[in-house]
Amino acid sequence: MFSHPDYDGHERVVYLRDARAGLSAIIALHSTALGPAFGGCRMWPYRDDGQALADVLRLSRGMTYKAAICELPFGGGKSVILGDSRRDKTPELLRAMGRAVESLGGRYIIADDVGTTLDDLAVMRQETSHTAAATAAAKAPLAVTAYGVFCALRAATRHYFGRDDFEGLRVAVQGLGNVGMPLCRYLHGKGARLVVCDMDPARARQASESFGAQAVPVEAIYDAEVDIFAPSALGGILNDHTIGRLKARLVCGGANNQLEHSRHDAALARRDIAYVPDYLANAGGVIDFHQEAIDDRPEAVMASVERIGRITADVLDRAKRDGARPLAVCDAIVRQRLSAAR
Ligand code: NAD
Repeated sequence: MFSHPDYDGHERVVYLRDARAGLSAIIALHSTALGPAFGGCRMWPYRDDGQALADVLRLSRGMTYKAAICELPFGGGKSVILGDSRRDKTPELLRAMGRAVESLGGRYIIADDVGTTLDDLAVMRQETSHTAAATAAAKAPLAVTAYGVFCALRAATRHYFGRDDFEGLRVAVQGLGNVGMPLCRYLHGKGARLVVCDMDPARARQASESFGAQAVPVEAIYDAEVDIFAPSALGGILNDHTIGRLKARLVCGGANNQLEHSRHDAALARRDIAYVPDYLANAGGVIDFHQEAIDDRPEAVMASVERIGRITADVLDRAKRDGARPLAVCDAIVRQRLSAAR
């Protein structure tokens, strides 16, 4: 564990097995220096537990960075359930997961993620109160993550293109799910010309019909003649094979862990492509969770998510002033906040 390439001083990594409930899972608490670790539960048919471990280590670290850059009183955690959510998910398994969360005594607050839903959290709540708030269900249509990405994009567009809208700007959106589709709606509303792709042709068709988007094959998105690239599907897509193909001047999207390795940030910079850190752009969910406890009216939640735009503008100004890359600026702010809290 301690020599694992994705181990980053994580405070606690818990392996869980409940054979009767069919549960095999890992919970990683990266840091609780700023507050209880908040993060989603991903259910995925991992190839093996090594792959699951790498995922949970990286994702939990990202959650610490998300909360810290947005000055929220949370740490970073994540959990992964090894299994196929369509086949293996049962109320018994979810309750067993709830008991495991409860056993951590509030150090971990569990939320939904790929393969789990707000309904699943409601089942876990039979065993633990440490879950994302019940009221979140009513706000799912608010698309807080997509709105946060849009706010980051707006600030970055102002910074790099000197414009307050997207009129005529070409934006490639990779992935048209919970994040990508509403992001298209926001961008289309401000005049962007969209190029989209999704593994699911029906989603690409829907974006074409609703937003006049040009749908391209999944692999062709990297070659699209666009100004901005918004990765909103998988992680690891900024890598040795794709960076050289990008035409965009700016990358800013919703996907977690977009860089395959940290060195790919420098590779983007060498090609003069600006990169807004994923953990800043896609922090809408954790901001929403924090806001719900204060005032959960939809307009209050959306207003609180707009802080992503202000932080992005500030980070880009600092980066310009210091001749640094935005990711390095964000990382330094986070590290400073963590060490002050410790
Ligand atoms: P989702 O499952 O709703 O949508 C993902 C979409 O991407 C699907 O339509 C899928 O068909 C498509 N896709 C998968 N592989 C693809 C590929 N190679 N090329 C093109 N399309 C592909 O997921 P989501 O909730 O929209 O999340 C998208 C990304 O954003 C993930 O990386 C997730 O970790 C991250 N994220 C999501 C949230 C959230 O609130 N949902 C918050 C933070 C970060």
